[in-house]
Amino acid sequence: MTHTTANTAAHATAGVRSARTVLISGASVAGPALAYWLHRHGFAPTIVERAPALRDGGYAVDFRGEAHMAVLRRMGVLDELRAARTGTGSMSYVNAAGKPQAKLPADLFAGDLEVLRGDLARILHDATKEHTEYVFGDSVTSLAEDADGVHVTFERGAPRRFDLVVGADGLHSRTRSLVFGPEEHFVKHLGVYCAIFTTDNHLGLDRTGHAYRTANRLVAVYSARENTEAKAVFYFGSPLLDLDRRDVTRQQTLLTERFAGNGWESERLLERMREAPDFYFDSVGQVRMDGWSRGRVALVGDAAYCPSSLSGMGSGLALVGAYVLAGELAAARGDHRTAFARYEREMRAYAEGCQKMGDGVARLMVPESRLLAGFLNRYYKVMPYLPGRNMPARIARKAAENITLRDYTAELTAR
Ligand SMILES: Cc1cc2nc3c(=O)[nH]c(=O)nc-3n(C[C@H](O)[C@H](O)[C@H](O)COP(=O)(O)OP(=O)(O)OC[C@H]3O[C@@H](n4cnc5c(N)ncnc54)[C@H](O)[C@@H]3O)c2cc1C
Repeated sequence: MTHTTANTAAHATAGVRSARTVLISGASVAGPALAYWLHRHGFAPTIVERAPALRDGGYAVDFRGEAHMAVLRRMGVLDELRAARTGTGSMSYVNAAGKPQAKLPADLFAGDLEVLRGDLARILHDATKEHTEYVFGDSVTSLAEDADGVHVTFERGAPRRFDLVVGADGLHSRTRSLVFGPEEHFVKHLGVYCAIFTTDNHLGLDRTGHAYRTANRLVAVYSARENTEAKAVFYFGSPLLDLDRRDVTRQQTLLTERFAGNGWESERLLERMREAPDFYFDSVGQVRMDGWSRGRVALVGDAAYCPSSLSGMGSGLALVGAYVLAGELAAARGDHRTAFARYEREMRAYAEGCQKMGDGVARLMVPESRLLAGFLNRYYKVMPYLPGRNMPARIARKAAENITLRDYTAELTAR
């Protein structure tokens, strides 16, 4: 377990009660973004992260539309993120011989700003580490609320008290399980599994990607970090499996079995998977909940309203959710009952709109039958010439922009 801390309230918004302690579980996107805004508004955030250090790796994630950009700009991280942008252009669907058959435009899957998830997590950590207590290598085991706080026990550290607790611990949130109930009540499996790892750019891709789709399977490679490396992505259709999420060997064996005889680069990539520096494997699902808070505990990001990793909305939604939750806490001067209700009122329609982007995509990305896979491959070929070709990107932008963000900092300063 490692601690880093340096708590100051130097940038706290004037007039707001400071030093209200908030424990956040999860240090990926939603957690650090929430810590950033809580500190700005005078609260004292602590983040506990199960991983022993900041987790690198993962996919390219994208931001699109004014709401995402406004939050990043207000956090002062937009320039740094722009410097880290992937710059990936269009993506090609290839046949078994690797010959491009259809090209999909970049704005469909890269939005206005695409960065590697690991880079995003690092930039958000850098922006918060001076004023947030980070505890790596630990996890919450119980939460007991009383009249004026929450008593929290941990796997490794000593018990502590906090005024509020927020779960930013993703699709399989432990905070959610502890307070709201078992995962199966809230997570809707979309019938697809996903694996992603870093490998060498052996195809010599230049800021682009190649994807190969067959019945129930899709494998893709795209270049990253100025073409010096590549990300390999595997999707396969499957009902929910009884798998230990930490058993990487079992996950890799399963992936190898599922893609046996799939052709194109599948086998070569699977061989390289064994030496990959990172490996992400998860079911693709959405989180649907009637309420995102109970007493002094609230949820943010994927833990509360995961739109699915296929929606292209997860990181932007987590970022906006963190901004609104912290802002409402500050606006309500730390009255969590009022703040949590307003957070939900501001975010509910927005989150549901973003979730719609994930509905149905799974079956299109990974169609069950060979017939549908063949049809889609042919459709993508002619799509760039059809009148509605920009429609999917336009719908995604509309969903991402469907919120009017309050400027909490300005409002609070003016009070
Ligand atoms: C390593 C990694 C790789 C990813 N790669 C992809 C990808 O390739 N494609 C994609 O679409 N999405 C990926 N995601 C998910 C994506 O980052 C999220 O959908 C999105 O950014 C929303 O962020 P979030 O912070 O709400 O949740 P997440 O990004 O899922 O973050 C949750 C955080 O909570 C931590 N955590 C989990 N359980 C506990 C616990 N019990 N106690 C303490 N901490 C806990 C996790 O380690 C993680 O850091 C990845 C997430 C991670 C952690």
